[in-house]
Parts: sequence; C-alpha cells; structure tokens
Amino acid sequence: MAESTTISNTANLMKYMKLDQKGSVLAEYVWIDGSNGVRSKTKTLSGPVKSYKELSEWNFDGSSCGQAPGDNSDVYLRPVAIYPDPFRGGDNILVMCECWDHDGTPNKFNYRHDCARQMEAHADQEPWFGLEQEYTLLGPDGWPYGWPKGGFPAPQGPYYCGVGTTKVYCRDIVESHYKACLFAGIQISGINAEVMPAQWEYQVGPCKGIELGDQLWMSRYLLRRVSEEYGVQITLAPKPIPGDWNGAGLHTNVSTADMRKDGGMKAIEAAMKNLEKRHVEHIAVYGEGNAERMTGEHETASMDKFSWAVADRGASIRIPRQVAADGKGYFEDRRPASNACPYQITGITMETVSIDL
Ligand code: ADP
Ligand code: MN
Ligand code: MN
Ligand code: MN
Repeated sequence: MAESTTISNTANLMKYMKLDQKGSVLAEYVWIDGSNGVRSKTKTLSGPVKSYKELSEWNFDGSSCGQAPGDNSDVYLRPVAIYPDPFRGGDNILVMCECWDHDGTPNKFNYRHDCARQMEAHADQEPWFGLEQEYTLLGPDGWPYGWPKGGFPAPQGPYYCGVGTTKVYCRDIVESHYKACLFAGIQISGINAEVMPAQWEYQVGPCKGIELGDQLWMSRYLLRRVSEEYGVQITLAPKPIPGDWNGAGLHTNVSTADMRKDGGMKAIEAAMKNLEKRHVEHIAVYGEGNAERMTGEHETASMDKFSWAVADRGASIRIPRQVAADGKGYFEDRRPASNACPYQITGITMETVSIDL
C-alpha cells in the first residue's frame, strides 16, 4: 500500500462529494502543456453534455504553462472529446482539448492537429493502434517507490508480472487507475508489472485513428490524478535508473484494414520497407532521452539501426509469432520511449505506411 504524504482527509471530502450539485455539471478541461505534461481546470455548466460539440471554447494563461509569451499569453482550448469523470462521478465530465493560438493557428505543442489530418487523409485504411504505456512510480524522495533508501533492490528477475511482497509495489495505485480508466470509457486492454521493480505497464487499444492519442493522453491524466491521492509521483522517463535496470517504452501496435485481412502479411512487409527508409524521422519524434534506453540491451534495439523480425524483442519492430503464423494482423514498433507523444507516433506512422517511397 502506498503511503500518502498529501495532507487530506478522505472522510471529510466524501461528505462534500455527496452533496447535490443542483443540476450543474462540472467540466474538467484537460490539455497538454509545453513540457509534455497535462494541465486542467474546471468550468461549471448548466446541464448534462452529450457531445464535445456542445462545449464552448475556453482559454488559459499560456505563459504559465510554457506555451506562450507573457505579453501575448492567451491560448485557446478547443474541446475534441469527452469522458465520464471518475473522480466527481454523476454527469460530470473530463474534456480533452486542443490548444490554439490567438491568430487561429495551432499552438506549437498541439501535435493533435497534424495527427488528425493524417488520420482523415488515410481514413480509408481504417488504422487501429494499441499502445503499451510503461511508467515508473517514485516515492516523495524521487527514488523508485519501495526501493531501499538510496540503495537498490535485488537484481531484476522476479518482478515482471510479479506477485507478492517484495515483488510488486503500489498495486493499489495501478488498480485504482485501471478502474478509473474503465469508468471514463478508456479502452484500457490490460495491465502488468514490469521488469524493473516499481515499473508498471497498461495498454490502451486497439483504438481507431485519432482516438488512440485522445484516450492515451486522458489515461495519463487519470494516472497523475490517481497518484496524487497516494502521494506517489509518476515518471515517464525512458531510463529512470541507469545501469542494469530496464527502461520504459511505449510499444506501438499498428494495423490497417489491408494488414488485418487474409494475406495481410504482404501489406505488413510493405510497411516495413517504408518504415526502414524513414527510421531517422521516426526516432526524432519517439521521445526525449530515448538514446539512454535504446542501447541494444534490455529488450531494445540499437537506436542507429532499423531492424524487423518475427518474435524478436531485440528488433526495432517485432511481428508477433501468431501474426506470422496467420499471415495477417499487426506489427509492434518497439522504438517509442515511454514519454513520447501518441499523436506524434501515430501521425508519422500513418504517413509513413501510406506513402509511395
Ligand atoms: P506485448 O506482448 O508486446 O506485451 P501487449 O499485450 O502488452 O503486447 O499489447 C498489445 C497491444 O496491441 C494491445 O493494446 C492490443 O489492444 C493491441 N492490438 C492487438 N491487435 C491489434 C491490431 N490488430 N491492431 C492494432 N493494435 C492491436
Ligand atoms: Mn506489453
Ligand atoms: Mn512492457
Ligand atoms: Mn510490447
């Protein structure tokens, strides 16, 4: 059980959470800031909301989020998706937003806009994405949760999908996040404890096109909100602890209608050819600090060289054995780091697998 360092009183909070809202609906507008984090603020609305299209634009102080200069600080929030709010319950909602500048252009950190254009341009291919989000829990001192203070646990081995005391840490946070995602309608497809102790993974997908980016960002928001309540920090750093400890990735599973139908292996192989040619462009948007993770050790490929293979966790791209056996299905791009932006990953992937190179 995680120890909370936050000063809060759950019993008191529950007393107020139960009070009647008198028909009001609280909308939590969520956006991505200038340092790959999430921010949010709340607006009271007069009644239930069925679609994001009913919601008005809003704005915030971009200079306080690293997204705009102080002398021209208004950034606009355009709602793009809504989800039931697992924290407030009832008709209250979470609202995923895009950031736009005052001159009507997308904000510098609005990677969704380009991604949506790619997804629309290639909608006939019916892309599906499933991402595996790995992350690490840190205690209040910034050291992995449950590790001896300033020291190290026993070497890796018993922790992956581990069960039992000293094998796993903070299962309570992981379970809380799982339920919160399900309530919010996030297509979370599973969870597992990872190779490094205090590291976990959850998967989102398969989702269609732009929905993957929206849902994954909202799942990150939920993870950070849940961890607040336990006084634990979440880091998406790709290599939180140097040395013989696994890094954290964001494996990206991809398929198009052509790959999923009989004989789809041909479309997968064509995609491999394209992906090989654009390796450098992909690596450029696959996360900060990825070089420390992609060493060729710890189930990663080398960052400088593209490779693909069936069932090989040391390749840039793995074709699952079952996919090779069926001759159709999907591929797993193992290169993206845990802190990469899902809009950037899925956007460039759609572009690359579609162009005639
Ligand atoms: P791994 O074996 O690499 O740990 P996981 O089970 O963690 O794989 O994750 C696999 C992901 O791939 C899941 O999110 C799943 O929804 C997704 N997935 C499965 N089939 C497809 C498909 N045809 N297209 C895209 N994603 C898929
Ligand atoms: Mn996985
Ligand atoms: Mn994993
Ligand atoms: Mn994987």
